[in-house]
Amino acid sequence: MDGDSSQTPRTNADWLELDREFVLQTRYTSPYVLERGRGCLLWDADGREFLDFHSGQVCANTGHCHPELVAGIARQLDTLVQTGSMFSNPPQILLAKKLAEITPEPLQKSFFACSGSEAIEMALRAAKFFTGRSEVMGVLRSYHGMTMGAFTTSSVPGLDRQGYGYAVANVNHMPPPYCYRCDFHQTYPGCARECLRYGIKVADLVGAPAGIVVELVVSGGGVYVPPVEWVQELHAWCRERGILFIADECQTGIGRTGKWFAFEHFGVVPDIVVTSKGLGGGVPLSGILVTRDVARGLEDKHYAQTSSHSGDPLLCAAGLANIELIERHNLLANVEAMGRRLKDGLQQMVKRYDIVGDTRGLGLLQGLEIVTDKASRTAFGTGAAAIVEYVTNAGLFVGAPMTKQNIIRLLPPFVVTAAEIDRALDILDRAIHSVAATMPNRLGYAAE
Ligand code: PMP
Repeated sequence: MDGDSSQTPRTNADWLELDREFVLQTRYTSPYVLERGRGCLLWDADGREFLDFHSGQVCANTGHCHPELVAGIARQLDTLVQTGSMFSNPPQILLAKKLAEITPEPLQKSFFACSGSEAIEMALRAAKFFTGRSEVMGVLRSYHGMTMGAFTTSSVPGLDRQGYGYAVANVNHMPPPYCYRCDFHQTYPGCARECLRYGIKVADLVGAPAGIVVELVVSGGGVYVPPVEWVQELHAWCRERGILFIADECQTGIGRTGKWFAFEHFGVVPDIVVTSKGLGGGVPLSGILVTRDVARGLEDKHYAQTSSHSGDPLLCAAGLANIELIERHNLLANVEAMGRRLKDGLQQMVKRYDIVGDTRGLGLLQGLEIVTDKASRTAFGTGAAAIVEYVTNAGLFVGAPMTKQNIIRLLPPFVVTAAEIDRALDILDRAIHSVAATMPNRLGYAAE
């Protein structure tokens, strides 16, 4: 391949040969090389069509190449792409204003970046600077990114710190409110929320943290929704101790759960909201949104934050076009309706198959927990992997389990139709059926 266009690779296999030669190989690379997308559909280099129930990397939330998003980006592309961080620009100002409008008081001011990890780092720096404290807390089984602060605050099964050198100091973790596998052998809702008490005990022993980072629907770490009481009690404790409640809404924000932000389901308002992925509809845009008090505290102390692309007009114009099209087409209502349809279908699978232990999620962020059998709840990672392989080969992309996990994630774009949901459910059902039928005791179906 020497620049001669007649030699341009055409097939998946051709492209992958070049990929292995020039792209650093890190995690698993799919045999499908994607070339084109529209709505919920993607096409690979061999021309094969796929139904995308992972919205790219959970970023193309309004569907691939939505014409109104493309038009918004194209307009700005031809106007101004970059200003440099000393200058503000209209798209940045309008996007920040829009975020203040779609969130409750007192959330007021935003600052933008490019990736979720970067926005998490900004939130951690801001919390430390605002409070003058050095400790931060995460919740076990959460994912916040790969930069060192975000990575150290994360703790997803199978993605540990071993081999990556020194982690960031002063990070502690709370036990997760993961009720299907309660570490304290309790049963929700009758439990006393031992997980939260234990986390508070850790904080009391090491000193109050500057902030605690919480995923309000845990995605990569297992797709589970924390109990409302857990969130409210955690929030109240943060208030009492002057700890900033930092909601990592990288996956859940900008409508994924049927509301603009997932915190709205829990009756709390965070001090800092971290947003990325769906914010730009696919272009690299992230940000933090902070309350008036936090903004005032940071500005009074001359909080310093910058990066080469923070608030770039091109990126912010995409964010604005993306939010406006969600509003114009009332896509939050579609997320709710299609989320219900998806959940109903998944609940049927829990009833039908002994290897489907549980289904959880909010809106269009749904997960299935694959187990060897309902009685033991033993995680069945190879079963989940086999299901993902089956559905992928059948033309459906889903969120594959992160390392050593047994959870399958379904996060289609907000423009998904009832027919597309039904098609995905049908493929998934066939996949589960085929894996359940291979179980040693041939227990394909659960005793209801
Ligand atoms: N937080 C959450 C909840 C995420 O899911 C992710 C990415 N999967 C991140 C933070 C990090 O975002 P990025 O990959 O853009 O750095």
